[in-house]
Amino acid sequence: MNRILLVEDEPKLAALVGDYLRVGGYVVDHWVDGLAVIPAIRQGQYDLMLLDLMLPGRDGLDICRELRGFSRLPLIMMTARVDEIDRLLGLELGADDYICKPFSPRELVARVKAVLRRSGEQPCNPGLELDARAFQARYRGVALELTPVEFRMLAALAVRPGQVLSRDQLMNHIYQDHRVVADRTVDSHVKNLRRKLEAVTPGHDPIRSVYGVGYSLEFE
Ligand code: CA
Repeated sequence: MNRILLVEDEPKLAALVGDYLRVGGYVVDHWVDGLAVIPAIRQGQYDLMLLDLMLPGRDGLDICRELRGFSRLPLIMMTARVDEIDRLLGLELGADDYICKPFSPRELVARVKAVLRRSGEQPCNPGLELDARAFQARYRGVALELTPVEFRMLAALAVRPGQVLSRDQLMNHIYQDHRVVADRTVDSHVKNLRRKLEAVTPGHDPIRSVYGVGYSLEFE
């Protein structure tokens, strides 16, 4: 049975969504406070999170940013802010889907099913472990000596295996101050990261370059 973490501070909406999900056969834990979310995920065994954007304590985008440093937990963002930027940013940060309020609980349950089905089909990252708090990465049991920039780059690629990220997208992930750097700067970080990964698996380089587009991480 799939376990869902529902993070929503509007009591009526949370109760309604919770009821529909339970009727749909899911086990639901409900949290209100944004500060409690990451510890709950680290302790609980969840299959999916439904995350409201505006929360007391800590907002959904901030939670999402930290989550994607260490986990690929399937994530659906729920938002009443309809402007395009927030929607895209939700996806940019690695949400699997989003739904705009007001929504029908029936539609939400359908989205949950679809995301869980997709996530079951995705390949995992064999042997890659990331600890976002300590900025430490291990690949096939070997600790990688990464700079913070390389670590963020690897984390951004690792949560979306097989998906190509453009240099601009990588830049947004690796520089928290939103600075803009030349494409060749990104390329040189990729080159260094690639060298460190390949040292662990000689002859196999998991970073794929897609000419004119960007990079993806692919494990065999
Ligand atoms: Ca809210």
